[in-house]
Amino acid sequence: MCGIVGYTGRQEATPIILDGLKRLEYRGYDSAGICTLNNGHAETRRSEGKLINLENLLAKEPIAGAIGIGHTRWATHGRPSEINAHPHQAGPVVVVHNGIIENYLQLREELRAAHHTFKSETDTEVIAHLVEKKLREGGDFEKAVRQALGELRGAYAVCILCETEPGTMIAAKQGSPMVIGLGDEEFFVASDIPAILSHTREMIFMEDGEMAIFRNNKPVFSTVAGAPLTKNSRHIDWSPLMAEKGGYKHFMLKEIFEQPRAISDTIAGRLLEEEGDVYLESLSLPDGELKKVERICIIACGTSWHAGLVGKFLLEEHCRIPVEVDIASEFRYRNPVVNDRTLIILISQSGETADTLAAMREGKARGGKNVAICNVVDSSIAREADGVVYTHAGPEIGVASTKHSSPSW
Ligand code: GLU
Repeated sequence: MCGIVGYTGRQEATPIILDGLKRLEYRGYDSAGICTLNNGHAETRRSEGKLINLENLLAKEPIAGAIGIGHTRWATHGRPSEINAHPHQAGPVVVVHNGIIENYLQLREELRAAHHTFKSETDTEVIAHLVEKKLREGGDFEKAVRQALGELRGAYAVCILCETEPGTMIAAKQGSPMVIGLGDEEFFVASDIPAILSHTREMIFMEDGEMAIFRNNKPVFSTVAGAPLTKNSRHIDWSPLMAEKGGYKHFMLKEIFEQPRAISDTIAGRLLEEEGDVYLESLSLPDGELKKVERICIIACGTSWHAGLVGKFLLEEHCRIPVEVDIASEFRYRNPVVNDRTLIILISQSGETADTLAAMREGKARGGKNVAICNVVDSSIAREADGVVYTHAGPEIGVASTKHSSPSW
């Protein structure tokens, strides 16, 4: 989950994109970046942390151009850092992406074998390289993007620029949200309405498998496969606050209804259906170590603790290993029985829950192996744990955890 913004028109792109990113910050903000095309040259600025850091960087090192793309990131693959911040560039191709590319590992291996060098740890960078590869194989920008997108599995909303076709911006989506704003000889692309609501109220909602090509400030719609499309715009009369909540009465309700997406994003790329296996990329526990486990302690607080109770049922059912579920504060203040055959699973949405962090250190000191289940990449618990399984639920705005139980309305 994150925010993307694209602009093509007659005005300077950077202030418009920056303003759009600010209004999308609620979707995630561990790093941010902007790229504009200036006389066919891609100028990119990226920075770690909140958007203000990018703003300060741009004040010191401004970029120019009337076509550009921007991104505020909520990391799913690769820690929050400047190098992992979007946009990502390969040759003349520059990409911002919201979503998860499930087959990125396989694509990255194939691209490496074809002498592509990767700079980041993200899944996104494969998109830039794949488009570049298709360009080199002799396609134009549009064809290269269509071919590259055809090879991706997973979810994406992308906005792509190319130095060799500086008047063109391409946007496409599959599984991640995207809206297009129609202005007066200017066009906007965004993950969500609030980003562009101050510029236009005429919006086109993109559906999965659809693509918009803005060439010399005219949009043309088609499917990713190439079939032409006619899209109608809608007039949006929401207030900016209503728009942020996606039309729901409050964020809590919005997040309840986002649960199916959060679950499918979390499973994405990890369930190897054909092999009948599961792949957890940062578990960091070899098979041999896992086989030695004789006891599992799930440690958490609040709603995460309740989730742990369900975990106990599932683990005992499928692994036939005894599982205890502990409230972190109680675990850390008693004299828990832990040894090197104990696996400690810590659950914390934020990865910052103080008692859970302290319990993890306690368990570690007694020789237990630990794996954290967290939603925030590079959070304290995620950094200190031996292994981590990230949920990809996106940033939490409605903090009360009641939303994790089934809504009764
Ligand atoms: N998967 C991409 C990344 O980790 C995009 C995440 C997002 O949607 O912010 O960089």
